[in-house]
Amino acid sequence: MSAAIPKGILGYARYKLKQISYSKESIEVNVELERDSRHNHLCSVCNQKASPERRKERTVKDLLFHGWKTFTKVEYYEVRCKQCGIRVEHIPFIRPCARATKRLEEAVAWLCQHLPLTVVALYFSLNWKTVKNIDKAYLEHRFEAPGLDNITVIGIDEVSYRKGHKYLTCVFDLNDPHLIWVGLGKNKETLSKFFEQLGKERGKRIKAVAIDMSKAYIEGVKEPCPHALIVHDKFHLVQDFNKVMDRIRIDEFKKADEEYKGFFKRTKWLLVMNPLRLKEDGKMRLSQLLNINMPLNTAYTLGEQLKQRWECVTVAQFNKALDNWCEMAYESNLKHLMDFADMLKVHRSGLWSYCLYPINTAILEANNRKVGLIRRKACGFHDLKYFILKIFQADNPLPLPLPVP
Ligand SMILES: [Zn+2]
Repeated sequence: MSAAIPKGILGYARYKLKQISYSKESIEVNVELERDSRHNHLCSVCNQKASPERRKERTVKDLLFHGWKTFTKVEYYEVRCKQCGIRVEHIPFIRPCARATKRLEEAVAWLCQHLPLTVVALYFSLNWKTVKNIDKAYLEHRFEAPGLDNITVIGIDEVSYRKGHKYLTCVFDLNDPHLIWVGLGKNKETLSKFFEQLGKERGKRIKAVAIDMSKAYIEGVKEPCPHALIVHDKFHLVQDFNKVMDRIRIDEFKKADEEYKGFFKRTKWLLVMNPLRLKEDGKMRLSQLLNINMPLNTAYTLGEQLKQRWECVTVAQFNKALDNWCEMAYESNLKHLMDFADMLKVHRSGLWSYCLYPINTAILEANNRKVGLIRRKACGFHDLKYFILKIFQADNPLPLPLPVP
């Protein structure tokens, strides 16, 4: 007795199986579907009833069928919708213009979240570029319009997406911590694109903005958020100080005698990492470097002290602590530290604002780490738009387990 596969399992809602053929040579299954004429034509944009205009056909990739590559050919209509005009009709299992079924897109996107493109491509017997295009199309759809309503506290941060000072600006909603916008560059113009999208009225409702002390961001925020308190939070301050630390490290490396240059190798991260997180080898190399180089030793000690300034609970306490720190920086006679102290004084109000408004910027720190991971996982991310979508995905990953078709 032969049996048929129950229609519900195949997942071709509103369609009927017309024909199934296969090729042993190419290990392919070709499924041909026809519309079930009992169903009305629906507009793919508003889902309302629409009148058919022109019959069309399209072949899309589908999930593997028992290990066989599967292609699904569907007939569909261009429809005239009263609201939207000429559109393609709604197909429940394929998004308009997609080259793969929804279930294949979801499976690819889910796997690409955990594995390199090349591995996912091998699994589905697809070209890696096809896998990338499917993943990208899915992510574009998923993150096409992040909500910008009810945002009152934002955090802005730069992340490096490629070597050679290539940066992106990320904007976060810090009340309901999540990423809301990513743009190319890290200047005032970059931010103006975000605020254009946010609109004037919503900009006026922003109460506080956590940013670093760069002039570009401060200038970029003032006008579109006239009522916002600028807050230089602890995360941004430490980030700014780390840049100073690195400049001192580079200067000292250049000045060091040949016999000492080896001590500077692979120390960039040792100098800025939380010392409690360092492994034994790291601790030893850091201690050796600080022992042979007094300027770095001084800067490192001052850096650790700077992080403790944020224990202050009142503005008066903070101001006193800041003045003490700046005095020590001036006494060090190190130009980079003295310049940094000058900068702290210029941005004093933004710094003590953190005492009044201790914004939690943990999400910015986490985002920095995630972007680093994406960079490492896909060396040579030349498609910037895809890279940005991956940042959104890292912030809001697809849930476990893999969605069921
Ligand atoms: Zn419509």
